[in-house]
Parts: sequence; C-alpha cells; structure tokens
Amino acid sequence: MKIGVLGAGQLGLMLARAGTRLGVECRFMSPDANAPAGRIAELVIADYENDAALAHFAEGLDVATYEFESIPLHSVRTVSEMVPVRPSPRVLEIAQDRLREKQCFERLRIPVPRFAAVDTMSELRKALEPLGYPSVLKTRCMGYDGKGQAVIRRSTDVPLAWVTTGGAPAIVESWVNFTRELSIIAVRSASGETAFYPLVENFHSDGILRLSLAPAPLSESSLQAIAEEYARRMMDDLEYVGVLAIELFEIDGELWANEMAPRVHNSGHWTIEGADTSQFENHLRAIAGMPLGSTAMAGAVGMVNIIGREVDLVRLAEMHDVHIHMYGKAPAPKRKLGHITVTADNLDGVRNGVSRVRSALAS
Ligand code: AMP
Repeated sequence: MKIGVLGAGQLGLMLARAGTRLGVECRFMSPDANAPAGRIAELVIADYENDAALAHFAEGLDVATYEFESIPLHSVRTVSEMVPVRPSPRVLEIAQDRLREKQCFERLRIPVPRFAAVDTMSELRKALEPLGYPSVLKTRCMGYDGKGQAVIRRSTDVPLAWVTTGGAPAIVESWVNFTRELSIIAVRSASGETAFYPLVENFHSDGILRLSLAPAPLSESSLQAIAEEYARRMMDDLEYVGVLAIELFEIDGELWANEMAPRVHNSGHWTIEGADTSQFENHLRAIAGMPLGSTAMAGAVGMVNIIGREVDLVRLAEMHDVHIHMYGKAPAPKRKLGHITVTADNLDGVRNGVSRVRSALAS
C-alpha cells in the first residue's frame, strides 16, 4: 500500500511514522527541500502548481491525502483525477473558505457565532450594526493560527482592521465569551464506520495552540455526546473519509463550532502516547480502506507545543512520563518546532507534569 501526502510538515512526519508500523509506505510532496517528513520518507520537491510533478507524485499511489489546508485546490483536484483523494477535494474546498465552512455548519444545524460575509469596508461597517462589538474580522482564505484576523472593539477600529487583514474577502463574526475552547478529533472509514477521541481542552495565546489536555474535564458529561453528534453529522453529510478535527467553544454548557480541519490536528498529537490508536494511524487506516483502531484512552494526557525557539532537551529527557517530539525545523518566531506529551493516571498528575515541563521550557 502506497499513500501520497500533499504537504510534508510535522503532521506528515507523524503520518509517515504511523505508516511504518502499519506497513504503509508514504510519499510526500512539498516545495520545501528541508520539509520534516522528507527526513524519513520519499519527498517530491516541487511547487504544488507543477502539473508534471503532481503526475510524478501520483504515479503508483493507491490513495492520496493532504496534511494542511492551504494546498491549492487545483493541485488536489489534479491528483484526484489520477488517484482517489481522501478526504475529497470538495471537503477541502469547504475547509479552505471560512464562509463556506460556516455555511456548512449552519446547514447541518451546528451552532456557530453570528457572522456575515464582507467584501468591502462599507459592507463591514453595515455588518457590524447588528453584530455589535467586539467582533472579529477573519479573511475567508489562508487564515490559520490567528493569522488574517483582527478584533474590532469599536467603530474607529474598522479601517485598521480592514488594512490588517489585507482588504481581502472576509467574514466578520461576533466575539463570544466562551468558558473554554475544546476540540473533537473524529474519524470515519471508507465503509462509513465512525470513531471519536475524548474531547480535548485547548489553551491558545496569540491565536496559537499552546497546551491541550485530554480528556477535557467536562462540566456536563453530555458534551461528549453532543460533540460526537456534530462531528458524525458533518462526516456523514460530506461522505468524509479520514480524520476530522472540529474546534469548539463551550458557552454556558453548549458547544458552538469555531472551525474544522480536514486532517490530523495539533490538538490530537497526544493520541500517539495517550490512546490505543493514534490519530495518525487512524487517518491512514481510514483512507487505506482498513477498519478503524480503538480510540480509547487510559489515564490523562497533556500536550505542550514548543514554539519559536530551541529548548533544553536534556532537562526534559530526565523527566519521567514525558515524551519529546522534535520536528527538525529551524527556529523562527511563532513556528511550531516540536511538542511534549505528558502522561499520568489523572488530570492532576498531568497538570503537575505540564508545569514542570513549562518551567524547563522557559529556562
Ligand atoms: P481561529 O483561527 O478562527 O481558530 O481563531 C484563533 C483563536 O482566536 C481561537 O482559538 C480563539 O481563541 C480566538 N477566536 C476566534 N474567533 C473567536 C470568536 N468569535 N470569539 C472569541 N474568540 C475567538
């Protein structure tokens, strides 16, 4: 079985590792000759728009997938003419565009913050009348980790917000006072079987994920079933195959969707040590047409991202129940360089471990 992956970052690296265990070979494509997955698997180095390179990439593959949303849709469609692509290009088309994504959630009766599409500054001013303040302006495309976003606290913020996001087609949505940010990692096989990991609690700053805790301590046990129902609805509707992540806001005991990612997700990295089957293995199983693996977990897990600068790995390596994952990337501001997973019998143990890891990272 040979699986092609468009993109070759850390998500690709972890997919390739899971593939080795399953006896599945991965081939990657990226314009970056130093892309992390290229260190352990075949890498086609070419621009995504290069049709000849896409044909070379697709040759001999059984199935293809993608590991980040910003791959040009045209490239994914081109590959899908040669080999099945899972999740389908239609799913990517929705996930690449915040407007389509929000409309999809609405159509499936999954709650979202109030929003409006805006193409000009005057449309933005008009949309803010019913939405009120604060609101957040988000470009429809190419926004991730808080990029392409501006918070609008008062009417005088509008011109700067419009310039900050580049005056590109956008959505504006009302700011929600969420209790917590959660995510659900779900997976659907080619035969329609579904499985769900326990809800994860996520902590962001500057729009970037810093820490995930699993299982999320839930104020109401029904939240897990609600999240699963939303993810199942979405996956069944889209005839989805692979891992799907939905980022959620918990608001007064309700779940609202923020966004979806049609791929393995940073808030699911803990599954490598923390669950019976990792999100990476389950994504490969799903797209390869295999049965899904168990998503059960024992104990509790924390995942801390290493962002921006090198850290003292020796101090971390001395700690028990602490697992280091470095991606082999050069340090740069806001760049995810690796992550640390902390395992324990319960969340209190995880919180202790996480604070020890954080002080080691800060030194
Ligand atoms: P996003 O790129 O849409 O995931 O946004 C990045 C982060 O900004 C989220 O994880 C939230 O912390 C915050 N955020 C985004 N949209 C909203 C909103 N409507 N209300 C409050 N916080 C938000």
